[in-house]
Amino acid sequence: MTQKSVLVLGCGVSGLSSGILLLQAGHAVTLWARELPPHTTSNQAAALWFPYLAQPIERVAPWASRTLAYFRQHLLPDPASGCRPTLVQDLYAHPVEAPWWAGAVQGYRRLAAAELPAGYVDGFETESIVIDTSVYMDYLVAWFLRLGGQIVQREVSSIEEATAESTHIVNCTGLGSRHLFGDESLRPVRGQVVKVRPNGVVHSILDDEGPNGLGYIIPRSADVVLGGTAQADDWDTNVRAADQAEILRKAANLHPAFAEVEIVSAGVGLRPVRHEVRLEAERIGGALVVHNYGHGGAGFTLSWGCAEEAASLIA
Ligand SMILES: Cc1cc2nc3c(=O)[nH]c(=O)nc-3n(C[C@H](O)[C@H](O)[C@H](O)COP(=O)(O)OP(=O)(O)OC[C@H]3O[C@@H](n4cnc5c(N)ncnc54)[C@H](O)[C@@H]3O)c2cc1C
Repeated sequence: MTQKSVLVLGCGVSGLSSGILLLQAGHAVTLWARELPPHTTSNQAAALWFPYLAQPIERVAPWASRTLAYFRQHLLPDPASGCRPTLVQDLYAHPVEAPWWAGAVQGYRRLAAAELPAGYVDGFETESIVIDTSVYMDYLVAWFLRLGGQIVQREVSSIEEATAESTHIVNCTGLGSRHLFGDESLRPVRGQVVKVRPNGVVHSILDDEGPNGLGYIIPRSADVVLGGTAQADDWDTNVRAADQAEILRKAANLHPAFAEVEIVSAGVGLRPVRHEVRLEAERIGGALVVHNYGHGGAGFTLSWGCAEEAASLIA
């Protein structure tokens, strides 16, 4: 394989994961990004390995499985990564089939009626991974730099700025691709969260569409992330008091230990949602541009699987 000079656009989880694999493959990698951690959408996620708001299933399934395997092999053994195993309970107000990804996770089991909070009739528990983004994003940056990658903070106003610099580009600009590539099928789905002090609850609890949906509780090392909202086409990145009150109400219903909480901080991120993740190569002028964006609510869940495919398209 010939070693190339690759320009990665974007310093969220997609850009950093792609950059790391490209460096490991022997390429020289420079990364340009308008925002760097901790100011990216990726930093706003909690995050869980959990497929959510990403399509199409036939491509998402292998990316998700591959990412889970990568986390288990390379990140879980190192506590400094901020990644650790966690139990996740997913609750429903109606009977549900097992999710399509049940076979990929360990410890999948149906919850017994006695384990369900009031208002729920079905649910399942799985062994997943919590990726503490307050640690993991910095860990990825340090890993990328250690491998010899360069990071430059700069906004790209047109793709020609990038193709003037390099003939091999990986585009991981998330929602920024809407403007950069005129991709109007890419839309924001606004997510607000509240971080509270740990209170002894160590497993994650989710309700996607039930009486407390969208509600979730995700304990991390130094805090617990409570969510959430999924407001389509909403570009507001300000924390809203009404959303926060609703998030706290839902958390208290999901687990009584959250009836009283000590708030640490609050935040908002815009999920880059698309009818399908865009992972493909395109020729622009004399350059090869590999797109890797539109991961919706599953950017971490798909990160390594997508990065591997992006790196192989460059190769
Ligand atoms: C509240 C919330 C909870 C979530 N929970 C989970 C979860 O539990 N599990 C999960 O897997 N996912 C979760 N997600 C989704 C996940 O955060 C996203 O899918 C993921 O962060 C997308 O990563 P990215 O690297 O593609 O984009 P981003 O993190 O948005 O990074 C994009 C990068 O591109 C740069 N950029 C954009 N435009 C330009 C430009 N013109 N020039 C230069 N640079 C540019 C940005 O500055 C940034 O550096 C959640 C999201 C939110 C908001």
